[in-house]
Amino acid sequence: MNKKLIAGNWKMNGSLVANDALVRALLAGLAEAAPVCDVALAVPAPYLAQLQSLLAGAPLALAAQDVSAHEAGAYTGEVSATMLRDFGSRYVLVGHSERRQYHAETDQVVALKAQRALAAGITPIVCVGETLAEREAGQTDAVVKRQLAAVIHLNGHCISEVVVAYEPVWAIGTGKTASPEQAQQVHAVLRAQLAAASDKAARIRLLYGGSMNATNAAELLAQPDIDGGLVGGASLKATDFLQIVAAAQ
Ligand code: PGA
Repeated sequence: MNKKLIAGNWKMNGSLVANDALVRALLAGLAEAAPVCDVALAVPAPYLAQLQSLLAGAPLALAAQDVSAHEAGAYTGEVSATMLRDFGSRYVLVGHSERRQYHAETDQVVALKAQRALAAGITPIVCVGETLAEREAGQTDAVVKRQLAAVIHLNGHCISEVVVAYEPVWAIGTGKTASPEQAQQVHAVLRAQLAAASDKAARIRLLYGGSMNATNAAELLAQPDIDGGLVGGASLKATDFLQIVAAAQ
C-alpha cells in the first residue's frame, strides 16, 4: 500500500493574514496528531514565499497550482518550474480542470507542464476527470485514459515520479462527491493503464478529488486504489482539513 498524500488546493483564495492563521492552526494540529501520511498545500503563486518560510522544517510540503509549459523568456505573466523550485515547491498541480476549462489547456500543454516540473525536480500532480456530459454519454473511461496517456511517456522521465489525481469535474466544488465505488472504478482503470506502461505502476499515487470532506474522506480513502485526496473547499478550514488528514492513516 502506498503512503497516502493529502493535498489541499486553496485555488484563488487567501491573504497574508488569513494564510498565517490557517497555516499556524494546521501546524499545531499536525504536531499533535503526528500523521503518517504526506500532507501538502497548493497555494497561489504570490504566497509561495510566505508559505516557504512558515513551513520551514514542518511536515507539510509546499505545492504550486500551475506552472508554465515554457522554460524561461518572453512569456509575460508565466511562472516557470525553476522559479517554483526556488520557493520550495515540492509538487505542482498540472491540468486541473479549471485550467483545462477556463484556460483552454490541452492534453499536450498539460504534458509539457508535467515535463517542465519533472525537469526542475518537482513532482507534478496530474489532474484528470470527465465532465457530467461525458459521464452521461458513457465516455468516462475514454476521457481519463486519453488525459493520462498524454503524460505517460514523458521524454526521459519515469512515470512513477508523477502523482495522478482523478477529479470528476461534476464533483468539484458542487458538494456532489463520487461514491467510493464510482471513484474506485475509475482509479482501477487508471491503475491498469499505468501498469501496462510501467512495472512501477503500483507505487504511483492516485488521489481522488471532488467535494472530499471530513465526512466522506474515510470511506473514499479506504478504497484499494485511492492513495490520497486533492481537497479544495475543505482545505480552507483547519479543522476540516485536519480531519481529512486523520482519515488518511
Ligand atoms: P473541491 O475541489 O474539493 O472544492 O471540490 C477539489 C479540486 O478542485 O481540487
